[in-house]
Amino acid sequence: MSPTSCQLLHPAILECKGKKIVEYFNYFCKNIFKTTILSIYNLEDSSKTLHPTFTDNHKAGFISIIGKPNVGKSTLMNELVGERLSIITSKAQTTRHRIMGIVNGELEGTPFQMVYSDTPGIIKPQYELHNSMMEFVRGSLADADVILFVTDIYEKFDEEDVIEKLKKTDVPVFLIINKVDLATPEKVEQKTAHWKEVLNPTEILVISALQGVGLGELLVKMIEYLPTHPPYFPKDELTDKPERFFAAEIIREKILQNYRKEIPYSCEIVITEFKEKEDIVVVRAEIYVERATQRAILLGHKGERIKKVGIEARESMEIFFQKKVFLEQYIKVEPDWRIKKDKLRRFGY
Ligand code: GDP
Ligand code: MG
Repeated sequence: MSPTSCQLLHPAILECKGKKIVEYFNYFCKNIFKTTILSIYNLEDSSKTLHPTFTDNHKAGFISIIGKPNVGKSTLMNELVGERLSIITSKAQTTRHRIMGIVNGELEGTPFQMVYSDTPGIIKPQYELHNSMMEFVRGSLADADVILFVTDIYEKFDEEDVIEKLKKTDVPVFLIINKVDLATPEKVEQKTAHWKEVLNPTEILVISALQGVGLGELLVKMIEYLPTHPPYFPKDELTDKPERFFAAEIIREKILQNYRKEIPYSCEIVITEFKEKEDIVVVRAEIYVERATQRAILLGHKGERIKKVGIEARESMEIFFQKKVFLEQYIKVEPDWRIKKDKLRRFGY
């Protein structure tokens, strides 16, 4: 499908899951985002035109945050978006989905909208799940208006295929050296020189995502490179992901915090019910594992471990959704889900 066939969505008010959502981005909306929006809200494609209200100098664009696991991509995105959207843990590869965060603002009279996606870390495909993650990375290279290639002060980036791709792309690449709070000035200089030589990116920026160092400069630079374009999303929408996605992410985070070894990586969470009532949110989650032994570990003695996960997840959800939450969890065994593509698809990868 060509980008122009994606002209859709007029400023109609759509009733979706009890919410009124105003859509006004018919422009050359990028395929992937269109598909996401259509599927989330169960919309049908339409080619109606619209006359949105925006000023001529509005800037908007897609910013992809890529890089290896653990370099601080999620931390950076959360700092930039200002909300806790993406899971942050010290374990590698926790961010499996593409997550969008949207920032609207104004800089010296220029209104802007930045749409971020925090992609999973760049890794060599080992099995299907990894392949699926690499697809997200490739997608980012194709859609982005700015690429933030995040590295940290320790990193020796040796995936030459990725470097080659970044060298060839027409998209501006910002090389971010993160965790500067842990480095000496000499080390920073050495890394900067290294990246200039290896990649010669559009910009090299030294930051500490954790301590908020260098983020102002980064923001100004990004806006500089954003194309003049009307907003892609209604200006009050924080993210394109529905609530049940966050419910699943919260449970996944609690599992990561409560179990060691391979358990967290063999779990997949599917929210089978998400009902928002006046004073309570009812959430029903199915947790898939690969083997009966994993199910037993997950349950713990008399189900106590999973109960702890449930309590912690409920508490976090109550903060996130600002409402009381009733959470039910079921553990199911689904052998080798990782290597079964159809199942991956069912889980939304
Ligand atoms: P991702 O896998 O690239 O998304 O990385 P995360 O954002 O999950 O961060 C991985 C770890 O690095 C976490 O423990 C973060 O707290 C830590 N981290 C991220 N940014 C910084 C930073 O600027 N300085 C320090 N010291 N730690 C950081
Ligand atoms: Mg991450």
